[in-house]
Amino acid sequence: MLQDDALKAQAFAVVEQGSSAADAWWNTLENEIAEYVSSADENFSAKAADLRDIRDRVMRTLEGETKMPMQSGSIFVGEDLPPTLFLETDWSQGGAIALKGGSSSGHVAMLARSRGVPMVIGLGEAWPGTYENAIVDGTAGLVHPAPPPELIAAYAKRSARDAEHRDADRQFLMQPALRRDGTRVDLQINIASVEELGQLDPASCDGIGLMRSEFLFRDGVALPNEDEQYRAYRAMLEWANGKPVTIRTLDVGGDKPLRGLTSEGKKNSFLGLRGIRLLLARPEVFRTQLKALARAAIHGNLKIMLPMVTLPRELEQSAVLLDQCVSELQSEGKVCSRPSLGIMVEVPAVAIAPELFAKAAFFSIGTNDLTQFVMASSRDETSAADLQDAAHPAIARLIAGVTAYGRANHIPVSLCGDMASVPENLPLLMEAGVTSLSVAPAALARVKSALSKI
Ligand code: PEP
Ligand code: MG
Repeated sequence: MLQDDALKAQAFAVVEQGSSAADAWWNTLENEIAEYVSSADENFSAKAADLRDIRDRVMRTLEGETKMPMQSGSIFVGEDLPPTLFLETDWSQGGAIALKGGSSSGHVAMLARSRGVPMVIGLGEAWPGTYENAIVDGTAGLVHPAPPPELIAAYAKRSARDAEHRDADRQFLMQPALRRDGTRVDLQINIASVEELGQLDPASCDGIGLMRSEFLFRDGVALPNEDEQYRAYRAMLEWANGKPVTIRTLDVGGDKPLRGLTSEGKKNSFLGLRGIRLLLARPEVFRTQLKALARAAIHGNLKIMLPMVTLPRELEQSAVLLDQCVSELQSEGKVCSRPSLGIMVEVPAVAIAPELFAKAAFFSIGTNDLTQFVMASSRDETSAADLQDAAHPAIARLIAGVTAYGRANHIPVSLCGDMASVPENLPLLMEAGVTSLSVAPAALARVKSALSKI
């Protein structure tokens, strides 16, 4: 957003009229925020929080502030946490997040999950004020403000036990993922940005099982062009050094709106024009991404994954587009290769009838969306959160069916939904025949440890 010339130009124009930089910036952003807030689309009005974040961050810089905005080890309490504040905060000394609003599938939830920062959402007015001490229990989804000494002692004990478990798990990090009988489980990681890879050793996993490419596409700035995307994808392939890298094509819509691309207002629903449906409706956006991917593919073992596939023709049309993109690149004299094309299994129609997708190069089961659709409970809805149970027998049965179909027909099947990062779910997944998982990087050691006991 800061690279948006329109936004900067307005601020510079005010400076030219004699205002200070801080005043100019503040007033420009206030106008912009007011526009977002007045939007009829709830998702866009929620974006005002991002703009406030940017406004405040630039203000802090203009005012010469250099210290960390939040002390390491603090508990952040608020309506929502801006992603930049999360990224600017040093979480190495602990700390936690307690939100009155928030969503378990939002940007910050994903960042917190991948860094292992405890976070609780949807407190509503249950958070009464500011306290010297509080306990944030991310496992139970509970916040205890001003805890009595007995509770602090009980949690201190639990915290010490958890730390012991983490230490014990850590010895598994650089080992292959093996079950007790020595059966190898393919264990890859889910990532959202190239930056995340900086702290990760590729030897700790079997590759990248899900790269959520929507994080390259940011609201309020121009869509990334072919070269920008190519550079990001290439960096991931170079990091993986020959291990498989599965990059999912743009999956916006529903809880991931993108101004100018996704439908506005109520039409932007989880059941509407999103994922592959949107890409096929906007072929120029899809083609740019496919070209960037085909160019990056020469730098490693790249697979392309299509999100929210419902009908076989979506896969077929995408394959035709990919072939066209490859021929065009070749005639432009650009080196490229054609990656294999697989699909997310996250719409019930696909999980129930996987045989319709025999042409897919691979399946990756997305239990986050599959669960919301099977359980009829929206994944961003705090009041229906207890229905979001990926371990429900109905989901387990679908997973087993897809896995069995894949095995019988030599189509590799992996599972990249968040349920795979939770050790308690692993026996069920092994029972369902799953042999390949993709998890949050912070979960690698504990998943390997849990698998070794199964
Ligand atoms: C899923 O739906 O399970 C998934 C992995 O994708 P996302 O969470 O990005 O929708
Ligand atoms: Mg999904």
